[in-house]
Amino acid sequence: MKPEPYVPQRFAIVHVAAGEGSRLRASVRKGTVMLAGRPLWWHGAHAAAALLPAAQVLVLHRDDLRATAEEPLASWLREVGLSRVVAGGATRQESVQAGVAVAGDADVLLIHDAARPLVSTAAIQRLLQALAQHDAALLAQPVTATLQEIDAAGRIAATPDRKRMRLAATPQGAGAALLRDALTAAARDGRDFTDEAALLRHYGVAVHVVEDSALNFKITTADDLRLARAIMETPRSGFGFDIHRLVPGGPLRLGGIDVSAEVHLLGHSDGDAVLHALIEGLLGAAGLPDIGEHFPDTDPALRGIDSRALLARTLEELRSLGHAPAQADVTIIAEKPRLGPWKAEMKAALAELLALPLDRVAVKARTHEGVDALGRGEAISVHALVSLKPA
Ligand code: MG
Repeated sequence: MKPEPYVPQRFAIVHVAAGEGSRLRASVRKGTVMLAGRPLWWHGAHAAAALLPAAQVLVLHRDDLRATAEEPLASWLREVGLSRVVAGGATRQESVQAGVAVAGDADVLLIHDAARPLVSTAAIQRLLQALAQHDAALLAQPVTATLQEIDAAGRIAATPDRKRMRLAATPQGAGAALLRDALTAAARDGRDFTDEAALLRHYGVAVHVVEDSALNFKITTADDLRLARAIMETPRSGFGFDIHRLVPGGPLRLGGIDVSAEVHLLGHSDGDAVLHALIEGLLGAAGLPDIGEHFPDTDPALRGIDSRALLARTLEELRSLGHAPAQADVTIIAEKPRLGPWKAEMKAALAELLALPLDRVAVKARTHEGVDALGRGEAISVHALVSLKPA
């Protein structure tokens, strides 16, 4: 049996995900942003769950509350022991208050900003150990860049000593009674604080700093989210295969270009087996159903369609899931026509279609050495390996 982690007191943790997240994307609330297949808030709760909290509370925007009763959110909440979900208020402080109100009777309360999904279990444990000796504490990071204070005209006015500065992170916490009293006092006084450290300090509580890793950064902008995805999401790759029968009469559309006037590939669409293999690889890398399900050959709207349009639709679907192509490696097996003279043009066309630099796309062509139907030139087959990166 795994030994229980050393945690000095019974603690509860409130995850705040009620913000509008307007700097992230106009229409997206932070409570609904996905990272590595789970909502942002899941990750901090997962890190805390290893320390066996007495309660975990999630504070969401009121519009996001209803979906938590349904799948998959209900399962994701259970996975990390988030047993209480409440609606937040107009300010962060009101949201914290709403969460604290249902946090139960733990000795220590921690408040975590759900937009910091990369917080580690070890850092939360160090924070709890500090709270065994101090009334209040927060995770905070050293400042590595030189800080410049500017004046109203945008000129440098002062250079504060960065060694004396810290970036406040979360979780932040205190003895439960201290934090509840401070929140009540702030509500009574009509004061609004942007974090618990400032709130507690204002009401005379000394707040201890626990050193934290720079990885526990806050996701505020689209760039922050891209960075978090690059760290959290494991590489994705997909394999695609296609084969089409070769019949007389051109043009032969292959890899987005016309390579011959004598033969072409038979198909419901333009028969571009290279693009079809690429689409299969892209769909596979994203964990999506195959090309036949996406673009059925029984769909009359797809008759004779330019496969570049199918690829564009595939890329759009991937982008909506946060994926973009990172690399593509294509092998074409064709006895005829000989594709050697066309490889460079095809590579350039694929790079443009996939929005990749040339050194991220490879096009290889070979014969089938006269063996079987491929070797008799009755068909062309294509193998494609693709990998994805965060969009
Ligand atoms: Mg096909």
